[in-house]
Amino acid sequence: MPRDSRQKRDLHGLNEDGMILCNPRDKEAAHRAEMEGIATDDRAAVTCRKCEALLYKRDKTRNEIQDYGRSKPFT
Ligand SMILES: [Zn+2]
Repeated sequence: MPRDSRQKRDLHGLNEDGMILCNPRDKEAAHRAEMEGIATDDRAAVTCRKCEALLYKRDKTRNEIQDYGRSKPFT
């Protein structure tokens, strides 16, 4: 049971399309989140665990792709 109904809600992350990272298919949710200020593109401010995990995963994937590109032989 939440002791305080005004308890701070999780701040979700947004992807490139302005969708919520942990719910990227729900346009309504993205709109609502924006209206209510519970989503941010400032990844340092994200508190939602799922969004944090997705941001982390995305960075990791991006780095791996970069590494792959770098390791390609220049011949
Ligand atoms: Zn989230």
